[in-house]
Amino acid sequence: MSDTRKPEISERRRFFTNIAHSAGLGVMGGLLWAGYADKAKSAPLTLRPPGALDEKDFLSTCIKCGLCAEACKNRPSNIDTDTGKPRPETLRMAKANESVTIGTPFFVPSSVPCYMCEDIPCAPVCPTGALDIASLTNPATEKLDFRKMQMGIAVVDPNSCIAFWGIQCDACYRACPLMDEAIKLKYDRNERTGKHAFLKPEIDMNVCTGCGMCEKACVTKKPAIFIHPREIALGYPGDHYVKGWDTKDQQRVANQGTKEKDVTTKTERSKKKASDYLNEEVSYE
Ligand code: SF4
Ligand code: SF4
Ligand code: SF4
Repeated sequence: MSDTRKPEISERRRFFTNIAHSAGLGVMGGLLWAGYADKAKSAPLTLRPPGALDEKDFLSTCIKCGLCAEACKNRPSNIDTDTGKPRPETLRMAKANESVTIGTPFFVPSSVPCYMCEDIPCAPVCPTGALDIASLTNPATEKLDFRKMQMGIAVVDPNSCIAFWGIQCDACYRACPLMDEAIKLKYDRNERTGKHAFLKPEIDMNVCTGCGMCEKACVTKKPAIFIHPREIALGYPGDHYVKGWDTKDQQRVANQGTKEKDVTTKTERSKKKASDYLNEEVSYE
């Protein structure tokens, strides 16, 4: 008589083994996904295409269709008429091994910057508004205006920028599509030599678009000028600090329910010099 229990036990064992395997794979998949999601979340320096909403809204609005990258003038399928070669790719769609949310468009200026195309073809094709054309429209002309782009802000590291050492370099300045507006060269006397001048790059954060042409052009091994998303590069003083001399800034708090006449500062400016504060608590015999 054959033992009918054995197959039953082994079937059951196989059943539970399968469950354990599936659970293990599920856990492993979950861990991998969690790891990936953490990695993607910890990539706050991602630069998005022109007109992109704030990162959180962008991620919930972008459907990862890739139409922006397909419309980018600077895409490999667009053969350069001068060189006869495919153009390098500005907008890339993130792959699984990249620390950017998978399938979303981004660019890396040190590799390929955004060329600030006058007609901004990448933005109007977005079907969801993740690239907001209103933010790129000049109210005066009601046309798209590349000056309205706010992809990021250039930041200069004075320790590694050789212009701060006194060496003549204006590579970033010359590369900027908004030369002398977004980036200027500030003249400073070189006290070390006493007879030379510094010409230091200085960014106007209200004009810089974050295109990254300067980062791409920088001559140092790791660029001394680089682009950060605006949320990362800029601080925020809070609504309680108001520029009394700036009517626009007063309107900002007027929107918070404060009347313009109420925001005039009444604080008396101290007449003391900085040295007057030194040891003011100390009494001498
Ligand atoms: S502005 Fe031009 S180069 Fe920049 S992302 Fe759009 S299409 Fe590409
Ligand atoms: S076109 Fe818009 S929705 Fe599509 S990938 Fe680009 S940003 Fe996302
Ligand atoms: S990112 Fe650089 S090149 Fe582009 S506008 Fe700003 S300063 Fe000019």
